[in-house]
Amino acid sequence: MAIERLGDKTYLLRGSPATIIYNDDDELYIIDPGHGKKRIKQLRKVIREFNPDKINIVITHYHSDHYSSAISGLPFTRIVATKLDAPMIEYPEYRLVATFGYPFSGEDNLLLYRAEPLSVDVKIEPNSTLGPLQLIHLPGHTPGHISVLTPDSILYVADALFGEKVLETYGIPYHYKPCIAKRTLSELVERKEEAETIVLGHGPRVDSLGLEKLVNINIKAIESVEKDIYEFLSSNPSSIQEISRYILERRSLSLSPSLVLLVESTVRGYIVCLREYLEPIVDRGVVRWRVTKR
Ligand SMILES: [Zn+2]
Repeated sequence: MAIERLGDKTYLLRGSPATIIYNDDDELYIIDPGHGKKRIKQLRKVIREFNPDKINIVITHYHSDHYSSAISGLPFTRIVATKLDAPMIEYPEYRLVATFGYPFSGEDNLLLYRAEPLSVDVKIEPNSTLGPLQLIHLPGHTPGHISVLTPDSILYVADALFGEKVLETYGIPYHYKPCIAKRTLSELVERKEEAETIVLGHGPRVDSLGLEKLVNINIKAIESVEKDIYEFLSSNPSSIQEISRYILERRSLSLSPSLVLLVESTVRGYIVCLREYLEPIVDRGVVRWRVTKR
């Protein structure tokens, strides 16, 4: 099998994102089935070999690279997601407004992954249990983002934490609300003893020491963007596009329209996080943000 055994009942299917499989006798839990034809083929093989009575697909958050294989024909008994993120999984336009700020159609070729609707059968509370699995609310990347802790001590953190390569490539980690993501990262370190192995959605798997190191790198990445935005706005009242251009110019990244749109959306999240220090002004029909005088 293409899968790797991580614990007594937990398996890893490597990829970006990684997929976690928990085999509880007759019931199979597939956490973030991912996307693409190869992944569907691999998961179909896994299902054939375990031959479960029931297949639960657990979606950690509404970004479609984590679940579009389920849309494209993976067999399952039920889809489980948090009640906070479920609307964006069920209605692609909501997902695209939340991610890019535009009500694009799910078929738009600007998008990396398909965004067809997927019906969520079980809408759960973000902090809860699902059979043997513990679901832990790790908001920030999206409002309802969860991690999954298995009884054999494997913690799948999905996109609450990124690997170093991802941070280098994208420079500005995408978070719906970066300040909430930062708080989540600090809380994650406090949980480091609960898990033997921590698996990232996009990145390596680490132990508790590796977790601490990566959390610090992720927090620094968020703080550096926050600092750049605050300092820039202190002397230059600016629009979202102007802020976005400034922080992109300070990081040498290869730019595409979808990356810039994503950064603009992330900048809006930073504005919300810095809201108590900022005020909007209208300058010749353009809203610009400036640091409040005190
Ligand atoms: Zn994501």
